[in-house]
Amino acid sequence: MNIAIIGTGISGLSAAYRLLQLKPGATVHVFDRRERIGGVLETLHRDGFQIEQSADNFITTVPWGLRLCKELGLDDQLVQTNPLYRRTYVVRRGRLHLLPDGFLMMAPTKLWPMATTPILSPMGKLRAGLELFMPARKDDIDESMADFVRRRLGREVFERLVEPLVSGVYAADMEKLSVLATLPRFREMEREHGSLIRAMQKQLAANRSADLAEQSGARYSMFVTLRNGLSSLCDALAARLPEGSLKLGREVTALVKLPEGGWNVESGGDVKRYDAVILATETHAAAKLLEAATPELSRKLDAIPHEGTAIATFAFEIGQMKRSVRGMGFVVPKIEKSPILAGSFSSLKYEHRAPAGQMLIRIFAGGARMPEAAEMSDERLVPILLEEMRKILGIDGQPLLTTVAHWPRTMPQYHVGHRELVREIENAAQADPTLALAGNAFHGVGIPNCIRSGFDAHTIVVDWQFHQPPPFSAQILRIDDRSNLLENRPTVKSHNARALTAKHSGIPMRTQLRHQLP
Ligand SMILES: Cc1cc2nc3c(=O)[nH]c(=O)nc-3n(C[C@H](O)[C@H](O)[C@H](O)COP(=O)(O)OP(=O)(O)OC[C@H]3O[C@@H](n4cnc5c(N)ncnc54)[C@H](O)[C@@H]3O)c2cc1C
Repeated sequence: MNIAIIGTGISGLSAAYRLLQLKPGATVHVFDRRERIGGVLETLHRDGFQIEQSADNFITTVPWGLRLCKELGLDDQLVQTNPLYRRTYVVRRGRLHLLPDGFLMMAPTKLWPMATTPILSPMGKLRAGLELFMPARKDDIDESMADFVRRRLGREVFERLVEPLVSGVYAADMEKLSVLATLPRFREMEREHGSLIRAMQKQLAANRSADLAEQSGARYSMFVTLRNGLSSLCDALAARLPEGSLKLGREVTALVKLPEGGWNVESGGDVKRYDAVILATETHAAAKLLEAATPELSRKLDAIPHEGTAIATFAFEIGQMKRSVRGMGFVVPKIEKSPILAGSFSSLKYEHRAPAGQMLIRIFAGGARMPEAAEMSDERLVPILLEEMRKILGIDGQPLLTTVAHWPRTMPQYHVGHRELVREIENAAQADPTLALAGNAFHGVGIPNCIRSGFDAHTIVVDWQFHQPPPFSAQILRIDDRSNLLENRPTVKSHNARALTAKHSGIPMRTQLRHQLP
């Protein structure tokens, strides 16, 4: 079997890695128009600084990132956030204020810090407290993040706390961002507990007792990174691929579906036939490639909007920053009318990123708030950002080092109705067993979800095998509901191909498959 994967971002590389685990004899070619692997993930090492050009860490509560690192033997490379600085600031009227302790993305877990924060007015605090008594919505109809938070916690909590925190992650317009596609857990909390505050407090108490019960075992901070940067995760995946698998600097310009089955992949003037194709590109790029073969699917993929962002990283002597900070970074509400979406004190968060006495600050700009930033020249963008940093952080003098990374049209926007759109896309893609989609546009933009999307593309091997004539030598693949490979065991030769989906000891098994592989 030979498979073409388009895109060497974390999604495409994860797909290649998992496919080759399932079917070691397969030929897998991974194409990218860039000359390097990693997609948006790129770590620079300069003058003793370690600079992440896009993502700088990943969440540990979504399991696939941590698990993959362990599988690849990178456990000893995992670095936790510095416990001294696990706080976030919010800008109000140009000044930094600590986010109320216990405020987690969308709702408070502690009432006293909310009651005493200078970020909210007395009326704003009162309205937030009334959340405990607001009627709960029980239906499953989508709504925007802005509508949801205003309905539950009031306008001020939305504008001053939730909008900047969520924008800092999704670079999105909150009036359009879907609550069910981005943070569905909060709607579940509302449905189950009648109040977000009540639900968060219960969850916190449950976590505390679980912590007490489970006193042993490695525990990780909510976010982790890798000592040599996130590019090292991509490098470790690439190192597991057979030589010649990577086709870099090779833009795929056309995909032609063949009447006898399989695809012709055109790249750099070459045309090669593959049994199956996995598209792990941005969905607008996938849409373009599928325009002729599957116009309906192409149209739906193109309906997922994308925003662009820019990440500017500055190095300073520690003494150049006049305000003293005790946090990992800051977020800026839209109503502050700032060109900055968020900033991260990169070397406070992870100490190893800067030499002693110096610090690294990353500034996140663009998104729905300032789309032009993604493509603005460095000569224009850098002075705008530095000026703003002088006001907010009290920065003095010029940076020791500056880098800017531009990421136009890379951040998919999960607008209201996204879940339905993704369902339609997946149904359309499933109609063709030789085609699979992976990437950040479907079930989460974070690295762990991208890894999972790549792993999920394993279905292409299973589907393909299912359509092959016998005889087979049987192989048992068991994959659990979270796309973890539980078992990959060769058995006897057989002419009797079959695929089973089963329930497994009470745990829902979405794709527990017993399947025949040659
Ligand atoms: C600025 C920024 C900050 C982020 N911060 C975080 C963070 O802190 N934590 C976190 O978990 N996530 C973060 N993310 C999100 C996460 O990094 C991305 O969602 C993820 O890396 C995307 O991986 P991917 O493989 O799906 O796509 P990409 O990395 O976009 O890879 C797609 C690849 O497809 C290639 N391609 C496209 N068209 C073609 C073609 N026709 N032929 C050949 N190749 C093609 C592209 O060149 C690209 O390399 C951030 C993202 C950005 C942009």
